[in-house]
Amino acid sequence: MKQLTREEVKRHNIEGDLWIIIDAKVYDLSKFAAEHPGGKITLLHKDIAGQDATDAFYTFHRHNVLQPNLQIGVVEGESARMVIRNAGELSKGPHTEPSWLQDGFSSPYYKDSHRRLQKAMRKFTEEVIYPEAQEFEISGKRVSQRVLDLMAEMEIHAMRLGPGKHLLGRKLMGGIVEPEEFDYFHEMIVTHEVIRMKARGYGDGLLSGSVIGLPPVLNFGSEELKARVIPEVLSAKKFICLAVSEPGAGSDVTAMTTTAEKTEDGKFWIVNGTKKWITNGTFCDYFTVGCRTDGGYTVLLVERTEGVETKPIKTTYSASAGTAYITFTNVRVPVENTLGPEDAGLLVLLSNFNHERWVICCSSVGAQRMAVDEALKHFNQCLVLKKPFEAELPVIRQKLAQMIARVESLQSWLENVTYQMNHMSYREQSKRLVSQISLLKVQCTRYAQETAHDAVLMGGMDFMSQTGLGKNAEHYRSTVPFDALLGGAEDVLADLGVRQAMNKFPENVRL
Ligand SMILES: Cc1cc2nc3c(=O)[nH]c(=O)nc-3n(C[C@H](O)[C@H](O)[C@H](O)COP(=O)(O)OP(=O)(O)OC[C@H]3O[C@@H](n4cnc5c(N)ncnc54)[C@H](O)[C@@H]3O)c2cc1C
Repeated sequence: MKQLTREEVKRHNIEGDLWIIIDAKVYDLSKFAAEHPGGKITLLHKDIAGQDATDAFYTFHRHNVLQPNLQIGVVEGESARMVIRNAGELSKGPHTEPSWLQDGFSSPYYKDSHRRLQKAMRKFTEEVIYPEAQEFEISGKRVSQRVLDLMAEMEIHAMRLGPGKHLLGRKLMGGIVEPEEFDYFHEMIVTHEVIRMKARGYGDGLLSGSVIGLPPVLNFGSEELKARVIPEVLSAKKFICLAVSEPGAGSDVTAMTTTAEKTEDGKFWIVNGTKKWITNGTFCDYFTVGCRTDGGYTVLLVERTEGVETKPIKTTYSASAGTAYITFTNVRVPVENTLGPEDAGLLVLLSNFNHERWVICCSSVGAQRMAVDEALKHFNQCLVLKKPFEAELPVIRQKLAQMIARVESLQSWLENVTYQMNHMSYREQSKRLVSQISLLKVQCTRYAQETAHDAVLMGGMDFMSQTGLGKNAEHYRSTVPFDALLGGAEDVLADLGVRQAMNKFPENVRL
């Protein structure tokens, strides 16, 4: 690259002959000036044209706005100072990553295999998933088979279901983690990293339905059903979702009205009813369905067949999620597709909730970390805010303090619960961790909403939802309420958490 002196650059400071320096690199903006969204007048300002515009540039732009083809040289004897994170790398700066990933910190929870997985997952997400996620979030297109196949090759669909027999014999992330050593911290890492695609609707479209719809098959399906369905879903050849909620049965699942009645020969169930808000429902082949039966509730694996109709629901996030309204009209389901005991389906559904809610906590904490990362970096690079920030805006420091404190405390609670999960059977988790996980989820989603509100610090730039410095903060703010509802509404979970704790409270304890 051509070496240019600062004196030489200064001579190119008029319309039609306009050079600037950004981080020791020289750019020729003579032609680009007319296309600059802020107008050529901004670039022709005496502090910019022919000058070092590094601080001004980073006050208004992300690094990726720079067009490498406009670079004509480098400043003689100088080298770039800015630290730009490449795909796959860790963020620099205190609190921008959980402490176990920060230089000089240690943790009792993570081993080398966790670190290897984190590194590989971040690279995969940012290189393979992120580009498509950003595009499809806006277009509403469904995740491509190409991305799903690449994820299947790395066994990411399988890892998202957590530890268990379904991992045995699989080469996790190309073999960097042994299936036998895979634990809930590995799963937490997978969730933390996958959400770095920063696209909430597309993110749910990336087979969230199978994260909640497949466990009942894994835990309660017959051997024949498992042998057929699990490989198809984990290889992304077929898709599954969880269909429990109905127009009149959300928080209270016992209000569901979808019925399943046995045929006289006892060989089939006949299913009738409607389900609403079902993630991935528009494109699923299998539906894990909660039904009302003679003696209670029963969960069935319904296949897409005659009588099953799915329609997209327009929601406030991307259509990529495939959120559906589903109708079942006289659908014949073989009795072999019953998941768990007949009439005891509530047990099947409730035991599924712990894991679903814990996964939501993992993604919520990861998303709050990214919001903190963005806000801290923004203040580090924004000249407009930096000066008053240092001296006159303690209120902004207070906001940042709260954001940091929230995410650090949630991370610690989440790690503690995850550690407990590693040391309990699935059954014990259902017995002992309902209160912990319910209340952790309440705290995660309340804090998430406060942090999303505080993270909107960039003025008008926060409302440029598709480009610009504030795009991630704005996307987060507009989609954060979903987590407060999914897997159980906040109020309901708060109530459940305390009721569960009180149920276990020794009756004779006194002050
Ligand atoms: C985008 C999206 C995706 C979804 N995906 C799925 C899916 O894949 N599968 C599926 O089965 N469902 C899915 N759902 C449904 C979701 O689980 C329900 O929306 C949720 O359970 C809440 O039910 P509801 O919307 O009927 O609200 P309601 O139950 O009517 O609750 C409304 C409000 O009333 C209050 N409330 C209700 N009951 C109580 C109580 N006992 N104590 C205190 N307050 C109470 C709460 O504040 C709550 O916010 C999805 C929903 C959305 C929005």
